[in-house]
Amino acid sequence: MPLNEESHNQKARAMSYQCSRCDSKMEKGFLLEKGDGAVLSSETWVAGEPQKSMLTGVSLKNKTIFDVITFRCIVCGYLDSYALTQKA
Ligand SMILES: [Zn+2]
Repeated sequence: MPLNEESHNQKARAMSYQCSRCDSKMEKGFLLEKGDGAVLSSETWVAGEPQKSMLTGVSLKNKTIFDVITFRCIVCGYLDSYALTQKA
């Protein structure tokens, strides 16, 4: 049964994140993606193989894309990434 976006988000809120290395609390954030020029965005996860495109470097046509959130352990700095919210 496919989950809609609303239930995905509720699940994300309900999950508690703990460092898998030292069991400390993790704070929510995201990794900044620096493209060409001044455009900044958060990291994204794309399903499948990267397809080369002359225009944009990599083609995202017909791809499943997720926003990536990254948790950082406040004690040891370990990073843990989750792709929970589908963008396209
Ligand atoms: Zn830790």
